[in-house]
Amino acid sequence: MSILSVPVYMDYSATTPCDERVVDAMLPYFTRFFGNTASRIHSYGWQAEAAVELAREQVAQIIHAQPKEIVFTSGATEACNLALRGVVELYAVKGNHIITTKTEHKAVLDTCKALEKKGAIITYLDVDANGLIDLTALEQSITPSTILVSIMLANNETGVVQNVAEIGKICKQHKVLFFCDATQAVGKIPIDVLASEIDLLAFSSHKIYGPKGVGALYIRSRNPRVKIAPQITGGGHENNLRSGTLNVTGIVGFGKACSICMEELSTEQERLTRLRDRLKDGLLQIPNTTLNGHPSQRLPNVLNISFPPLNSGLLLSALNKSIALSSGSACTSGSLDPSYVLSAMGIDDTHARAALRFSIGRFTTEEEIDFAIREVNEKVTQLRNEGMFIG
Ligand SMILES: *Cc1c(COP(=O)(O)O)cnc(C)c1O
Repeated sequence: MSILSVPVYMDYSATTPCDERVVDAMLPYFTRFFGNTASRIHSYGWQAEAAVELAREQVAQIIHAQPKEIVFTSGATEACNLALRGVVELYAVKGNHIITTKTEHKAVLDTCKALEKKGAIITYLDVDANGLIDLTALEQSITPSTILVSIMLANNETGVVQNVAEIGKICKQHKVLFFCDATQAVGKIPIDVLASEIDLLAFSSHKIYGPKGVGALYIRSRNPRVKIAPQITGGGHENNLRSGTLNVTGIVGFGKACSICMEELSTEQERLTRLRDRLKDGLLQIPNTTLNGHPSQRLPNVLNISFPPLNSGLLLSALNKSIALSSGSACTSGSLDPSYVLSAMGIDDTHARAALRFSIGRFTTEEEIDFAIREVNEKVTQLRNEGMFIG
C-alpha cells in the first residue's frame, strides 16, 4: 500500500498541477527556443512561431475548431472579457441586450455588471433546483435588440452541465450569437463547437493540467463569420484581436495539455466517474447529507454536497490538514455569504452555507477517495456532536 501524501488534493476545479509531460514539452522554449513569434526575419522567431502554430492546432482540436479560429489569451477570464466586451462593442448598431444566467462564473457576471454600467441591458436567467436553465424562458427573453447569449457549459461549483446543443439551436434560429464559458468542461467531456452551434467559447490551460496564465477564445470563422472588437491593442498580434508578445512557453504547454486530454478523455471520463460515484456513495452514507445539482447531467469529476447544519468554513478548517478542498469557487471562497450559485438553485441558506465542493482529477486514486470518505465522516460526526453549528 502506498503512503498518502496529505493534504489529499480534491480542489481540481480551482486549478490542477501541471502534468510532467507538459512541463517537459515547455522547457526547451524557455532557453534554447526562446524567440519572439513576431521576429519574422530569423530562425529564433520561426521556431517559436512553429511551436505556437502546432499548439494552436492541438488547442483547436479539443473543441473541433480550426486553428485560425483560436485566439490565445492570458486565461479564461480574459477570454470571457474579450468575448463579451468585443461583441458588445462591435454589434452596438444591432442592439445592446445580452442574456446570461445567475449561475455564471464571476468572469462573466462581473463583466456583465461592468457592461451594464456602460448601457448594456442584461437578462439574468433563473435556474431550476437542478441548476439547469429553462429553454423556453431563454427563447422568450430574446428580443430584436438581443446580440448575445452567454451561458456556461459546466458550472464550476456544482459541475452541472447545461444543454448547450439546444441552446445553440435556439440562438441560431433567432440569429443571436452564442458565447459559452467551457472552462470546466474542456478535457472532461467531449465538446464540438460545430455540433453545438457555439459561436464563441472560452477555456483555460491551468484547469486541464497546463500552466497558469494562458487560455483561449474560439471565434467562429464561418456560418456565420463572427467578428469582435479587440480589447488589447498594440502590435496587432493574434490577427489583430489580442496584441502583446505571445506567451510561447505557456502556449506550448497549453497545446500539450490539450493533446494529452484528448488522448485520455474516454478512459479518464470512465475512471473519474467511477471514483466520483464511490466518493458520492460514501459521503451520502453520512446521515442528513444532500447532493446539490442535477444527479446525472454533470461533470465526471465534481460533487457538491451539503452537511447541515455545519458551516462550510468551519468544516473546511477542520479538514484542511487532511483534504484540500473548497466550498465553491476559489475566487469567492473568502466570502461568508452563501454561494450565489446554490441560492439561485433555490437551496435554502442552511444547506447553501453547509456545502463543500469535492473536485477530483488525473492524479486522484481510489485510496484517496476512501481516505476522504473516512475523514469527512469523522469530522462531520465530531462537529455535529459538539454542536459546532456556527462558523
Ligand atoms: C476558472 C474559471 C474561469 C477563469 O479562468 P482563469 O483562466 O483562471 O482566468 C472562468 N470560468 C470558469 C467556469 C472557471 O472555472
